[in-house]
Amino acid sequence: MTKQDIERADRRETILIDGAAVAASLHSELRSAVENLVERGLTPGLAVVLVGNDPASSVYVRNKIRRSVEAGLRSFHHELPSTTSETDLLALIDRLNSADDVDGILVQLPLPSHIDAQKVTSAIDPAKDVDGFHPMNVGKLSLGGEALIPCTPLGCMLLIKGVRSQLAGLNAVIVGRSNIVGKPLAQLLLRENCTVTIAHSRTADLPSVCRRADILVAAAGQPELISGDWVKPGAIVIDVGINRVQREGRQILVGDVAFESARAVAGAITPVPGGVGPMTIACLLRNTIEAACRRHGAASPLRTL
Ligand code: NAD
Repeated sequence: MTKQDIERADRRETILIDGAAVAASLHSELRSAVENLVERGLTPGLAVVLVGNDPASSVYVRNKIRRSVEAGLRSFHHELPSTTSETDLLALIDRLNSADDVDGILVQLPLPSHIDAQKVTSAIDPAKDVDGFHPMNVGKLSLGGEALIPCTPLGCMLLIKGVRSQLAGLNAVIVGRSNIVGKPLAQLLLRENCTVTIAHSRTADLPSVCRRADILVAAAGQPELISGDWVKPGAIVIDVGINRVQREGRQILVGDVAFESARAVAGAITPVPGGVGPMTIACLLRNTIEAACRRHGAASPLRTL
């Protein structure tokens, strides 16, 4: 996004939600929290496991490792060939579950097709499950317990609450029902007393469902699916989608929302890139610090969310 875009949006009083800036401030808060814990003799550790050489996954993993080192965390990196057997991967997870200096375990998805991702996710110690995908954490989230919360939905909530702190009574529509984004985000919005609708590929008349939303979250993985005329005037629009498309002979990233037309109607909107994306890693590090504190019975230096 150019400076001109921002100025034009400002004139229309649409809030451009700058995820990169929010994430940067969260990173600096996390660095201070880690310093505080290190002084108290606790250095949180994050183990990241990558199986295979999917280029996008390699980039995500590199960024996660770089950010954890910058935050002062102990970083453990396990890069395994795509031929790794499920048994060997489960054995590694077993070792990481028992390692006292590892507080968080992240297995980068997707895994090669011969490995059952659900089995792997369920093998991670729920106390170290910083992705929040273990059935125990999923259950705790839905029951209202103290769960580790999936990073992307947590990032979305921080952005939404940065715009508006009281969400009770608002209509929230989430387009997408995946286990990693749509469903956990629905639970978080319910916690905030929103009236939540989860829409998906079989939803009838999606445009009119979206038009009811005070908070509209797009997580469908469909380039520019949601146009401005699907957006209720003044709505908060959160675009989780990351889609690589060809435009004028080059590859660019677009979200699930047609940004220009939606921005003209929305009250607040995230861009792609620079919206939800940067929040995901910051939330991963936050979860690792939280997990370390809980495992070691240390008071958390982090703000309560
Ligand atoms: P997914 O493929 O697991 O789920 C997509 C969901 O969207 C499904 O529930 C499906 O029913 C729904 N859907 C698909 N087409 C639709 C349509 N035409 N109308 C209505 N609903 C439709 O995807 P996911 O893993 O939840 O990811 C969604 C998007 O978010 C992807 O673009 C992904 O790259 C992105 N993502 C971004 C981050 C981030 O950090 N910013 C993290 C995770 C995922």
